[in-house]
Amino acid sequence: MATLMEGPPLAARIRTEVADEVRELGGLGLVTLQVGEDPASTIYLRRKHEAAQEAGIASDDRKLPQDVSETELLALIAELNADGAVDGILVQLPLPPHLDEARVVRAIDPVKDVDGLHPFNAGQLYLGRPTIVPATPLGIMALLAEQRVPLEGAEAVVIGRSDIVGKPIAHLLLQSNATVTICHSRTADLARYTLEADVLVVAVGSAEVVTPDMVKQGSAVVDVGINRTEGGIVGDVAPDVADVAAFITPVPGGVGPMTIAMLLRNTVKAARYRRGLLAFPRGER
Ligand code: NAD
Repeated sequence: MATLMEGPPLAARIRTEVADEVRELGGLGLVTLQVGEDPASTIYLRRKHEAAQEAGIASDDRKLPQDVSETELLALIAELNADGAVDGILVQLPLPPHLDEARVVRAIDPVKDVDGLHPFNAGQLYLGRPTIVPATPLGIMALLAEQRVPLEGAEAVVIGRSDIVGKPIAHLLLQSNATVTICHSRTADLARYTLEADVLVVAVGSAEVVTPDMVKQGSAVVDVGINRTEGGIVGDVAPDVADVAAFITPVPGGVGPMTIAMLLRNTVKAARYRRGLLAFPRGER
């Protein structure tokens, strides 16, 4: 039976560290923007704000109507960019189809982009340079590090190629000297790749995409998926994969809590950058 890579204890430790850092910095501000009332987004945001406030971060949950115009949204982001009390800005995705997600994300000042999605930050990650990195992949790396899962020279397979999970985790694994393969919806034979994986990260968004026959004995499996079913929340990985893997993240209670902890850590990092306590690589070539 696999060892569980549990999120809550590690996330709690990180949140305590963040609270200490927030005190040292003399307070921090995080603003989230939600367009419309997607119920899942509302739950995620509530958790983010509860955690922020517990860590002493002043957090403001701005709800905008579903039909807000792009001009209005961009104007609000410009205002927050210029606001000295705001260290971090997070636009909850997805946005309704009439809003251009790429343009909205690009409008956020990269130094306040606590989701790490601005092309500047994504580019820095691609180049292997310090930057603000999306929270979920950071949380995954912390869970693997906590169990001392070896990454150098390991075969790592990522299923999913989203900008928020799949691509950034692939880059972080690469930076840790793993040999990385990215699989996705058009991959012809997933098992051919997953069976070779010492580390398997699954971020697809469909229940039981990965079954025990697809997993290498003794591997570490990270299940990022959140799927709402009649029986409750399940991941992308079938539960009996735990009989084959050496380490596995539970769902719920694995990656989810880590995402929130790392968002708070990103907010501290953004504050350090903006206050000149860390050098933000803006303008670096
Ligand atoms: P996404 O929909 O943007 O991307 C899904 C990816 O899976 C795509 O790149 C697609 O190519 C791939 N894919 C789809 N079907 C596939 C299949 N049958 N075989 C192989 N690949 C397939 O999703 P996302 O934003 O990356 O999120 C993925 C999952 O992770 C979702 O369930 C989401 O809710 C969850 N999530 C969890 C957290 C957390 O904190 N736990 C954070 C972000 C996302």
